[in-house]
Amino acid sequence: MPKDLDKIKLKNQGDHIMKQKANLVVSVWRDKRKLTILSTNTNQSNQEVQRKQKDGTVKNVTCPMSVKLYNAYMNGVDHADQLRSTYNIAWKSLKWWKYLFLYDVCIVNSFILMRESPNHGLRTKNNRVRTRTQLEFRMKLAHQLIGLFSMKRKRKSEFNVEHVMEHHWPSTMPRRRCKQCTKSGVRREPLSGCFQCDVNLCNDCFKPFHLENFPDIYGQ
Ligand SMILES: [Zn+2]
Ligand SMILES: [Zn+2]
Repeated sequence: MPKDLDKIKLKNQGDHIMKQKANLVVSVWRDKRKLTILSTNTNQSNQEVQRKQKDGTVKNVTCPMSVKLYNAYMNGVDHADQLRSTYNIAWKSLKWWKYLFLYDVCIVNSFILMRESPNHGLRTKNNRVRTRTQLEFRMKLAHQLIGLFSMKRKRKSEFNVEHVMEHHWPSTMPRRRCKQCTKSGVRREPLSGCFQCDVNLCNDCFKPFHLENFPDIYGQ
């Protein structure tokens, strides 16, 4: 993306400029405010969209082809940029903004698809169906992503998640090799261990063993 996009001044509604590199075209267009659109559409002909004026009349405003297509594709929902700017995660992070911008577009696109599709509404107390707001959608998405992440971490531990729910008390065990020492190639056969995990452990190994295997409850 050209670095000086922010500095481009467009005075009147309908003013726009386009810059092309290979088959990518970036269009900066002044609607009610400045919009930036990146597209692979190389047809640079001018188009028109209709805009309602303050007095209620409708005016034709010139725009780049990409805006026209975007609006058509959005099924008349032409406030996508407005939706995106409400929760723009890219704004302050200059270094990563390119990637974040793409994620952001993906999130907004999913949000629009979710809204268009049946069976994705929320039930109110009165059992009516209402549309999820964008904030609710983003929260849900975040929770699902975080959920997946922590499940992944738990699966790494060689023990069952169910064990986490129970207490781990040191107990007397039949003689077996210490699980923790075995890992580092040391042979010790203590008569103690963790009843819950069903492993033998030396006194000194009890803590490190549990820190390692249950970082979620014993770790920081
Ligand atoms: Zn244990
Ligand atoms: Zn040990």
